[in-house]
Amino acid sequence: MSVSMDVASATTSATGPCCARCQGPLEPGDLRCAVCGLAAPQGRAPASQAVQVLRCTECGAAVSYSAEAQAPKCRFCGAVTRIEQPVDPIDQADWLLPFGVPPDQADQALRQWMSTLGFFRPSDLSRAATVEGLRPIWWAGWLVSADAVVSWTADSNAGAHRSSWAPHAGQTQLPFRNLLLSASRGLSLDEARELAPYFRLDLAVPAAHRTQQQLGPPDAVLEQFDAQRSAARKIVSERIAASAEDALKRGVIPGSAFRNVHVAVLLHALETRRLALPSYVLAYRYKGRSYRAVVHGQDASHVTGTAPIAWGKVALVVAGALALVVLVIGALVLARAA
Ligand SMILES: [Zn+2]
Ligand SMILES: [Zn+2]
Repeated sequence: MSVSMDVASATTSATGPCCARCQGPLEPGDLRCAVCGLAAPQGRAPASQAVQVLRCTECGAAVSYSAEAQAPKCRFCGAVTRIEQPVDPIDQADWLLPFGVPPDQADQALRQWMSTLGFFRPSDLSRAATVEGLRPIWWAGWLVSADAVVSWTADSNAGAHRSSWAPHAGQTQLPFRNLLLSASRGLSLDEARELAPYFRLDLAVPAAHRTQQQLGPPDAVLEQFDAQRSAARKIVSERIAASAEDALKRGVIPGSAFRNVHVAVLLHALETRRLALPSYVLAYRYKGRSYRAVVHGQDASHVTGTAPIAWGKVALVVAGALALVVLVIGALVLARAA
């Protein structure tokens, strides 16, 4: 997933040690830069912090331990969690986006969304569905900016005289500003992609202020960054390479049809901010089955999720279409006979 955004204030320069090559933040215990892999300066003692992650055995979500909810239950799906001892230091969000939607409005937004799903959904869905769980969470995302030197090779239809493809190659500089990438396992990639474009990044607050300010419902769970730092580097580079390929096809590579596009991306001036993004995860039940929806925590008009299909209506439409076909064929046969 990659979404461009305009943002002003969420990019204050981070203090603390940085990677000499890419300026990625280094944390106590990092032997290498989490982004570009450059070895960190010696003399940085490995951290002996004992971080524990509650890991859901059902849905894989990593959630921070909350003292008030001591029951070992997943805040996403309700299943029992187990405790995991990670090898790498665990990433925490540096910035929090405050909730702008109160819980009761999230419930209303879900019902509103249900009524817009269209004809093939049960018509009593928004009335008959019962919400069984409404959980405010801050899910984990990276906000990435970088300048990239992209070397590429591709075949395209430009300059292809007799054959359909001609080879091209080049190198170009591409700026990437504020790509929001999901680092969440509590939300699916699709759910995160749906919600990502609508976050107000300009409202970001340093995560340290969480205890002083009311930034969301008191029971909101802060999701840990699930991907460990070694994996984060790979994810960020892959997403930037994928975005680079799209950008190249929009005007850098000559021609209009492409194949065999290969890109090598060298990142510099890379900045990664770890964001906590507010949303509500709702579980609801309709006619004995459970469904799940996610409501944007800052703009309740954005909802994504699963919903039942009214198979009766589908069958009716199919039967109607078949009847129409039979009628048309019958009419044609009659017209010929006449
Ligand atoms: Zn680096
Ligand atoms: Zn779960």
